[in-house]
Amino acid sequence: MAKQEDTFKKVISHAKEYGFIFPSSEIYDGLSAVYDYAQNGVELKKNIREYWWKAMVQLHENIVGIDAAIFMHPTTWKASGHVDAFSDPLIDNKDSKKRYRADVLIEDYCAKIEKKIDKEVKKAEKRFGDAFNKEEFLNTNPRVLGYQEKINAILKRMGQSLEKEDLADVKALIEELGIVCPVSGSKNWTDVKQFNLMFGTKLGADAASSTELYLRPETAQGIFVNFANVQKTGRMKIPFGIAQAGKAFRNEIVARQFIFRMREFEQMEMQFFVKPGTEMEWYNKWKEERLNWHKSLGLGEDKYRFHDHDKLAHYANAAADIEFKFPFGFKELEGIHSRTDFDLKAHEEFSGKKLQFFDHETNTNYVPYVVETSVGLDRLFLAIFSTALQDETLEDGSTRTVLKIPSILAPTKIAVFPLLKKDGLPEKAKEIVADLKYDFMVAYDEKDAVGRRYRRQDALGTPFCVTLDHQTLEDNTVTIRNRDTMQQERVAISEIAAIVNEAISFKKWINK
Ligand code: ATP
Repeated sequence: MAKQEDTFKKVISHAKEYGFIFPSSEIYDGLSAVYDYAQNGVELKKNIREYWWKAMVQLHENIVGIDAAIFMHPTTWKASGHVDAFSDPLIDNKDSKKRYRADVLIEDYCAKIEKKIDKEVKKAEKRFGDAFNKEEFLNTNPRVLGYQEKINAILKRMGQSLEKEDLADVKALIEELGIVCPVSGSKNWTDVKQFNLMFGTKLGADAASSTELYLRPETAQGIFVNFANVQKTGRMKIPFGIAQAGKAFRNEIVARQFIFRMREFEQMEMQFFVKPGTEMEWYNKWKEERLNWHKSLGLGEDKYRFHDHDKLAHYANAAADIEFKFPFGFKELEGIHSRTDFDLKAHEEFSGKKLQFFDHETNTNYVPYVVETSVGLDRLFLAIFSTALQDETLEDGSTRTVLKIPSILAPTKIAVFPLLKKDGLPEKAKEIVADLKYDFMVAYDEKDAVGRRYRRQDALGTPFCVTLDHQTLEDNTVTIRNRDTMQQERVAISEIAAIVNEAISFKKWINK
């Protein structure tokens, strides 16, 4: 645990020190669970968004994008169910006065049991060596099966109680499991209550005429209310999708773990409209496609797993999370939900407008079903950043900190260094920068020894460093150094762009 915490602390401090993420309004001591993206963070975030957008919109002729406003007509949130049901179960510890999400306390308890399973696996691995078959062990070892059964029973009971709004049973479960407050260590809990997560605000100048608004807690509703407009103007035929990336706001009860859970964050969502009855087929297809998208980034296949939901939201008939192994354990990264026709039907009812599709083949109208994919951009940032940050011991025994961000996402693609600050080398280097900057984010650095400059760019995740020396002035060649292999190669200046383009080719990355 201590090691995990240290790793995570390192991630947070590296993000600040190297200009990726700052606490919001830090000169006023910051604002809880709100963060600002700094000069390098904004580039990385933009590149992740673009990688998603291209994969979803550009590669699918039947998916288009929109950018809906954050403010929406307040009836939207009545129709969607958010006014009545967008809440989390909270519980207070009477001794520490700390507030928790009841479901998270229970899930954390299960995560501890899961750790015990991991321990058993590690022990067995040692014992059996090469002959160890993990799958078989997990399916047959009585102790592991016992742990797994316990986890399943706890999560099932919690899911059912939350669905029935039986908050007394959620509290009873916390008490039966003997869950203690991590701060006070006591079991002195209040009752479990529901807490609405939407932020309210007002539109209009004076109190009498102003309208109560909400900051959107998800981007999806901006897509549903535009369904008919997009379908008609885009001449879209079922099945088709609408994608959107944008800010969402939630008054989270427990906002911790850096940018994992924020009060203002960005979602990238795609609602895919399908013929009723075909939704399960599409649900499974999107589960697979989204997992492959994540894996294409090369962070490691073992970093992902599915978690199929027992507890379904009020609108869903199937739901799964893609979980990622963050420095603090496996947690939700993306949700894939089969939302039925709940949203479009509700908006039809509340607006009095038809939100249907006319099927020319069967000459019938129907309200489409929806399969959605919903990923948090900030969580994705954290997943990539925390996995990429590595301390390496080199062959000569020295160490380096390197940010092995997938090169296609790296904030700066190329750093250009003149070996010396004289003999016309800086001028020549600046010429190279001036040429490359039309196609790439390029940095120029002439300060300190080249080794130090390499280290600085390693820590920023820059995949290529180009160094000019006296030979450059004679034959227009430079050395190009690869961040990950640290190999240097002598190439012509005219080849740099092609080498970098090859390394950051979207076609190559996405088809990995
Ligand atoms: P959680 O259970 O972690 O609160 P959720 O199930 O409420 O998440 P969804 O409503 O399905 O989340 O939202 C889709 C995605 O948006 C999540 O998978 C996550 O990546 C992201 N997300 C949700 N809430 C936050 C938040 N407070 N901060 C950052 N990202 C978030």
